[in-house]
Amino acid sequence: MKTYDVMVIGSGFAGMAAALFAARRGLSVAQTGATGGIDFSTGFIDLLAVHPITEQKVWEDPFAALAALRRDLPAHPYCRVSDAEICRALEEFTLFLGEHGLCYRGRAGKNTLTLTSAGTMKPTYLMPCTAWNGVEAWEAKAPALIVDFHGLKGLSARQIAEVRKDSWPELKVARIKFPGMSGELYPEHMAWSMADPARRAELAISVAPLAGDVDYVGFPAILGMTDTAAVLRHLEELLGKRVFEIPTLPPSIAGPRLRAAFDRGLPTLGVRTYTQKLITRAVCSDEGFHFTAGSGSTSVELFARSAILASGRFFGKGLKADRHRIQEAVFDLPVTQPEDRSLWHRPEFFDPRGHEVNQAGVETDEALRPLNAQGRVFHPRLHAAGAILAHQDWMRMKCGAGLAIATAYKAVASL
Ligand SMILES: Cc1cc2nc3c(=O)[nH]c(=O)nc-3n(C[C@H](O)[C@H](O)[C@H](O)COP(=O)(O)OP(=O)(O)OC[C@H]3O[C@@H](n4cnc5c(N)ncnc54)[C@H](O)[C@@H]3O)c2cc1C
Repeated sequence: MKTYDVMVIGSGFAGMAAALFAARRGLSVAQTGATGGIDFSTGFIDLLAVHPITEQKVWEDPFAALAALRRDLPAHPYCRVSDAEICRALEEFTLFLGEHGLCYRGRAGKNTLTLTSAGTMKPTYLMPCTAWNGVEAWEAKAPALIVDFHGLKGLSARQIAEVRKDSWPELKVARIKFPGMSGELYPEHMAWSMADPARRAELAISVAPLAGDVDYVGFPAILGMTDTAAVLRHLEELLGKRVFEIPTLPPSIAGPRLRAAFDRGLPTLGVRTYTQKLITRAVCSDEGFHFTAGSGSTSVELFARSAILASGRFFGKGLKADRHRIQEAVFDLPVTQPEDRSLWHRPEFFDPRGHEVNQAGVETDEALRPLNAQGRVFHPRLHAAGAILAHQDWMRMKCGAGLAIATAYKAVASL
């Protein structure tokens, strides 16, 4: 049976980050997991933008927000990681992405407002570099053109212009045919086709007469799959304008780009990935963990001296729920949850307090080791990271990827 220093259970933001950090520290790493939040994400790395959620208070300085959060919510998993650890985690994570073709950008210690496909401005901490010119265009309220495509459903330039008309009057829109494709269009196909410089030239020929005197041209995020920076630069040369991308509605191209970067980079660090395989059995002993990954004839038996549980919540399948209670799927760890199912959701969907079910998860000690029903460490070498941690509503607080990466860093450091 194959033996590893650490088994990373999950391949979302938390699992990818944990595998990266562990491999970089010289540990032998196996990783299992299937589709999760990362595949549907917009590619933004939110650190913390909203606290308290009841007041919907939006912070420009995420570290000031973290200080307030740590005062107000002592059970929140951000209380287990220091600012210095968060900074190191984000730096190492984005450096790795940059080495594998995905450049990230932000402002040290400040959230930045970025344009969404709905035309709203979303505060985030780090974003793909391909979105950055859009930030500059918005901040300067510069003359800009947003282009969308017949047959692409995930972004409407007209809607963006409508929402922004009072705050960004010099925003123009155009809908054009995407070169070489017709009918319903999918961002992934479009992005792959942009690898061909001839296709970019055709696109530029359609856009140039519409761009006139604008300074910036925004496109739905379809500018290449593995070489976005080069595609963007080439379009800038062809158009003589600054170009930017706006993520389309989920599933956008950001998820496949991130996954592709990890698929390229993690094996070079020696990580053994068992793709599209879930852990179906876990047996704990003093020596470590015996896992079965997958089921039936293709299942694999693995042994690991330590493990990081980064299996997400309901969307990732780390938590499962029946009519009465919520369970943790791999180790059957106790899950902090409302006493009764009737308390999972509040009557109003948009209740500013959010829903109790979105705070469900596993309890841990300071080192992010899950606790058993008696409140003691479940296993000395099992750690947890990401959305599966209790007492946080990442969606409302705008801290999804940041929390996942920071807690993965802490979990690896604690191994
Ligand atoms: C539509 C959408 C948009 C988002 N946009 C943003 C954004 O703009 N900014 C931001 O910061 N965050 C965003 N997020 C959040 C982010 O993508 C992550 O969901 C979040 O950070 C949690 O990451 P995670 O790795 O803990 O869990 P997940 O991403 O849910 O990953 C869980 C992983 O665990 C695996 N798993 C589950 N059970 C098992 C098992 N038994 N064995 C092995 N593997 C298992 C799953 O297959 C999956 O790979 C978005 C999420 C969604 C869904």
